[in-house]
Amino acid sequence: MRITALIKQVPKGDHSGRLDADGRLERAGAVTEMNPWCRRAVAQAVRLAADSGGRSTAITMGPPAAADVLREALAWGVDDALHLTDPALAGSDCLITARALAATIAVLDDRPDLILVGASSVDGSTGAVGAMLAELLGVPFTGPVLTLEPHTSGTTTRLRTTVQYDTGIEDVDVQLPAVVAVAERSCNPCKAPAETWPTGDTIRRVTTSDLPPGRWGLHGSPTKVANVHPASLTRDPVIFRGRPETQVTRAITELIARGCFEAPHAESAEPVPSAQLPGGSEVVVLVGPGPSAGTQALLGAAASLAAEVGGSVTAVRTEQSSDDLARWGADAVVTLTGDEPRPVAESLVKWMADREPWAVLGAALPWDREVLARLAVATGAGLMSDLVSLNINGTHLAGLKPSGGGTLAEIVSHGSPQIATLRTGLLPLRTPRADRPLDDHTLHVPADPAVRRAERRTGSEGDALDRADVVIGVGRGVAPERYAELEPMRVLLGAELAATRKVTDEGWLPHGRQLGITGRSVAPRMYFAVGLSGNLNHLAGASRAGTVLAINTDPAAEVFAHCDVGLVADWREVMPHLVEGLRNRVSAREAG
Ligand SMILES: Cc1cc2nc3c(=O)[nH]c(=O)nc-3n(C[C@H](O)[C@H](O)[C@H](O)COP(=O)(O)OP(=O)(O)OC[C@H]3O[C@@H](n4cnc5c(N)ncnc54)[C@H](O)[C@@H]3O)c2cc1C
Repeated sequence: MRITALIKQVPKGDHSGRLDADGRLERAGAVTEMNPWCRRAVAQAVRLAADSGGRSTAITMGPPAAADVLREALAWGVDDALHLTDPALAGSDCLITARALAATIAVLDDRPDLILVGASSVDGSTGAVGAMLAELLGVPFTGPVLTLEPHTSGTTTRLRTTVQYDTGIEDVDVQLPAVVAVAERSCNPCKAPAETWPTGDTIRRVTTSDLPPGRWGLHGSPTKVANVHPASLTRDPVIFRGRPETQVTRAITELIARGCFEAPHAESAEPVPSAQLPGGSEVVVLVGPGPSAGTQALLGAAASLAAEVGGSVTAVRTEQSSDDLARWGADAVVTLTGDEPRPVAESLVKWMADREPWAVLGAALPWDREVLARLAVATGAGLMSDLVSLNINGTHLAGLKPSGGGTLAEIVSHGSPQIATLRTGLLPLRTPRADRPLDDHTLHVPADPAVRRAERRTGSEGDALDRADVVIGVGRGVAPERYAELEPMRVLLGAELAATRKVTDEGWLPHGRQLGITGRSVAPRMYFAVGLSGNLNHLAGASRAGTVLAINTDPAAEVFAHCDVGLVADWREVMPHLVEGLRNRVSAREAG
């Protein structure tokens, strides 16, 4: 088999969040490394090439210094390396990056049977380039995969994969050639030490003059970074030290002063704007097979946009998804007869041709992401992915997304339609409006013979965590045999448990409970961070929490810089006092 791994160089750790004159992140002087997900793609490419007696190639697109990631890939064992490098490519968004990579793959002597990409990247992840590339190459896509094994079926070679979702796993078998995104937990490759990297003489260099003519770089990109805001300045931490009971008393006084016990989400939620008349700008919302609470928040956000631009919301749903859509913001419904992403995107392109919707939105979940990435390629409109909020910038759809280093970037779409995926766990859930019957049209979607799916095995996590009013996040400082000691607080507050990656790596709680850049994102009214260090990789998943209360024995723990109220203490000592104090507050609130 010929396997190509696409790899990216990313800054290590934080960046300043400053933009240069062209709206690109300033990275001068930043220490860089291979994106950790890409290292997994390299490791899998080397393994599969060795097993099949084939060849592996690593490709990167980036400035001259990005050759380092190819040198590391060569040290890891790839056979060939190709560097697409040209100042004309600087500032390319995910669509232009995918186009440049697809054109580069076309210049390879042999077309690959399998193209592996990392499921995401640590710097402003889009998780969309793989699916876009698949659309450009006209092949299937699957991911993020935990396992991947080739097999032959008749005369064709196929790949058996296990795809990881927040709420479970699914066996997906795809015909090759295909593009596959490799999940972080597919393997755990070490970094090849720099002293083992070859010089890089064998790296083949390609510039845009080797590719067919195209509009590259920032100027060809339909989505652009308008601004970067530091996300970490939003909290004003008050840290307590001393005896546990005194700390708790003072912490509860502080929480009362901040109004934390006053109004739960639902009472303060804005209503879904009343139904709009069709005819104006259309906002299309994909309602995939994902969690229904996310759909409700997404429809509410779409209805609010539609009200602003004088339009209406059309929900495009699969047969399995919820039909309770009018109350949450849909003004019309289209039901798809099939749900394979490639034919769904194809059918949507035809359906949209004479409607010209103003925007198309979906959740930042694998199904929506693939459909919208393919749509973004087919329409040339580009994609804003993993947004945490939406706004209108001038006449354009825009939104914020975490861009690494504790910053939020404002991305603006200049495409038509304006396409975006959103982390729905961070969107406010609005109060539903009155129900009403909706016109329901059907859109025919054929099957995709290149993809076979077994039934999805769903975990018990569902979407309770996404919509919890209170979340208790536990880190490695809470041993699993002591989780029972958290129960009184969990039950009292009706809270859901969440975890850091170290906890889910240990198998103490399931992956579906993990918050952070490789986990879920939530926006509870209160987040209790218990025995966790507060690394931004984790806190990114709780950045929209109303109030963060942290308990940690280490006064220098990072979490104390990103919380509202901090207790420097052993959680086991403060917990009984905290439960007692919270119980008094809850009783006082219930008494009116
Ligand atoms: C590419 C990449 C992606 C990542 N994605 C994620 C992600 O999505 N989500 C995520 O969570 N992490 C993620 N991580 C890992 C992240 O960087 C941190 O390593 C991780 O979040 C730390 O977990 P922790 O806080 O549980 O453990 P530790 O760092 O070990 O911290 C444990 C904390 O508990 C405190 N403690 C110990 N005992 C007690 C006690 N009795 N009482 C109170 N406090 C106590 C300690 O002082 C310490 O601060 C990612 C890392 C990488 C490289």
